[in-house]
Amino acid sequence: MAALHGQQNMIYIPRSIEQEMARHMFSSLPQEACGVVLGEAAAGGMRISRFKPIRNVAPDPLHHFVMDEVEWIRCVFQEKQLIGIFHSHPRTSPIPSARDLDNLPSFAGLLRIYLIGSPVPASSSNARMLLGGYEIMKAPEKGSLSASTESYALQPTPLSVT
Ligand SMILES: [Zn+2]
Repeated sequence: MAALHGQQNMIYIPRSIEQEMARHMFSSLPQEACGVVLGEAAAGGMRISRFKPIRNVAPDPLHHFVMDEVEWIRCVFQEKQLIGIFHSHPRTSPIPSARDLDNLPSFAGLLRIYLIGSPVPASSSNARMLLGGYEIMKAPEKGSLSASTESYALQPTPLSVT
């Protein structure tokens, strides 16, 4: 695989889509925001073409996100280009939490891109977002005797916002 030779995939995001995600994040504060991204494989990586906000129905939306099941299932069946998810970390950096990793198996098989946004500290007047990009990788099999649940990992992936 190319990644083994230091050639990494990129995630390409139009500036306008990045701004849509940032607006959704800021308008959802202090709660976590979430949504899906649509796109397709492109030369050298993946290209995002749309963002769709999804309602966060977590019992504790200040610290977690759970995508509204009806909206999520509608996306899975209707959006042919479903490629990833986005959620925000209102108070911490855009790095997957232990709980984010625990929840990966519930949708990771359908997706390739995992995005996390965080407000840039001290940017009150000109609200800016720090965006962390990850590629969803299937973790290597650990032997045929282990449990049959799939295991996934998040590989940090460079973003190209243009
Ligand atoms: Zn998270």
